[in-house]
Amino acid sequence: MLQITNFNVVFTDQTPLEILLADKLNLPTGAITDVKIIRKAIDARRYKKNPIYYVYTLNFSLQKGHNEASVLKKHKNIKTVQIKKDNNTKILPRKKISLQPIVVGTGPAGLFCALTLCQAGYAPIVFERGQDMDSRHKSVDQFWQTGHLRQESNVQFGEGGAGTFSDGKLTTRINDPQIATVLDTFVRCGAPQEIRYLHKPHIGTDLLRQVIKNLRQMIINLGGSVHFNTRLEKICRLDNELTEITLHSGQKIPCRDLFMGIGHSARDTYEMLFREGVQMEAKPFAIGVRIEHPQELIDRAQYGEDFNSPYLPVADYALTFNDREKNLACYSFCMCPGGKVVAAASENERVVTNGMSDYARDFGIANSALLVPVTPDDFGHGVLDGIRMQRHYEHLAFLLGGSNYCAPAQTVGDFLSHRYGSDNLLVTPSYCPGITLADLHFCLPQKVSAALELALLHFDHKIPGFAAAGAVMTGVEMRSSAPCRIIRDKQTMMSINTAGLYPIGEGAGYAGGIVSAAVDGINAARHFIEKNKS
Ligand SMILES: Cc1cc2nc3c(=O)[nH]c(=O)nc-3n(C[C@H](O)[C@H](O)[C@H](O)COP(=O)(O)OP(=O)(O)OC[C@H]3O[C@@H](n4cnc5c(N)ncnc54)[C@H](O)[C@@H]3O)c2cc1C
Repeated sequence: MLQITNFNVVFTDQTPLEILLADKLNLPTGAITDVKIIRKAIDARRYKKNPIYYVYTLNFSLQKGHNEASVLKKHKNIKTVQIKKDNNTKILPRKKISLQPIVVGTGPAGLFCALTLCQAGYAPIVFERGQDMDSRHKSVDQFWQTGHLRQESNVQFGEGGAGTFSDGKLTTRINDPQIATVLDTFVRCGAPQEIRYLHKPHIGTDLLRQVIKNLRQMIINLGGSVHFNTRLEKICRLDNELTEITLHSGQKIPCRDLFMGIGHSARDTYEMLFREGVQMEAKPFAIGVRIEHPQELIDRAQYGEDFNSPYLPVADYALTFNDREKNLACYSFCMCPGGKVVAAASENERVVTNGMSDYARDFGIANSALLVPVTPDDFGHGVLDGIRMQRHYEHLAFLLGGSNYCAPAQTVGDFLSHRYGSDNLLVTPSYCPGITLADLHFCLPQKVSAALELALLHFDHKIPGFAAAGAVMTGVEMRSSAPCRIIRDKQTMMSINTAGLYPIGEGAGYAGGIVSAAVDGINAARHFIEKNKS
């Protein structure tokens, strides 16, 4: 099998790849077979001088009678590749254990942890404080329409975890062989094949919901059990060892192996772990607002005159600003092309924003979070100080929004000139149940507002119109990552002072995003399986 990298195809060219490749290699049509896309990315950097390209990495074979060696000799960006059988976890022999492992949370970390344990023949018991997918979907819709919040089932809590009502972006900065396992599993659960090779894969919330339900069924078919509306209330430690857990119902369950995939918003559970003496530490995170622009403005900036070509996906962006002198930084985060700003609160009298889009990304508005890093120097070095800061500003946003879960919003023009109320909005704000025009300076730390003001002008140079007077900002974005870390041992992935407790995923403070949380869950399960293998 041969592999070619950096194979550029003009974005409008619909010619089959076999033919384009044969042409490129000066081979007769039909000489190329078994073409498989390994990676596909867009290169629009130089659209002013060159056409926009799709850049492929392709595996392919040559028809009998065509000499691989001569092709390799002629073309530097071609090499031979061995087709790996599969990168799935090898089923390891298991040791009979008296107490089955328990997994808390059905976010990506919890689900992939449970699946890996099942594949090794264990029968994990999974507890999720929120509702199953269909009930949760109704609860979230009801909150977005009426402002009636369910603290146990919302955009943060429930089957699938935080990322369910999201853009379902599957990009990650980690480099781990289990990433392919995660993507393969999502495809086996119904996600589009392309997520395996796209440079920036996404599933979209509309497809992700069914994919998660299929993943849950896969766990159950392999002997696991999943219990919704069941909150872990307390853990019991003895001599630095986990011995038992208590559920919100009061039920006590002996437990020696507990995988905690609680996410970054389970503040009551963090408080319980801290009370029970589990070693934790304060951790830097980032806060800010969400900004919305017409999607066309972003498409024009990224694709130029080809902005509305049917051969191009809606455009995204990634922006950073760093003023070392003033020690102010800001970056765009979780950009949702053709998406919506969503109400992501999980506690009464608090307003939180985040972003979501469907697979088609066809909502016509582009949004992203504009985040400013904050550290324990800003909010205190106490383990729970970060949570205190989040709660404080989320409550201010609740009040500023009108104390009904409407969110405060402001045009960029007003924000930069410290006034509010202008309604010359470039887009209709997509946050539901609604917005109240207000001055976002009142629900943000001064440092964050100062960084945003400078960054907006800087970003406007990168994307003309980014700081247009009518661009809309809605606040507050407080849940970009975990505000504290449950300290664990690098080798065993167990809590450093509670044997048997495996803090996993984003809530543990060691992962961020759907894929890295899932990979973290898989690796913790593999550590456990290795430890217990007979
Ligand atoms: C609106 C939104 C959009 C996002 N978009 C993206 C995106 O496009 N791409 C991306 O990579 N990331 C995205 N993220 C981030 C991503 O969702 C998280 O990084 C990821 O879900 C973390 O996975 P996790 O399994 O560690 O935790 P979570 O997904 O947060 O899951 C934790 C689960 O644990 C449950 N739980 C908590 N406490 C308890 C308890 N005491 N007892 C029982 N159950 C409990 C919760 O109900 C929850 O279901 C988004 C997040 C949000 C909120």
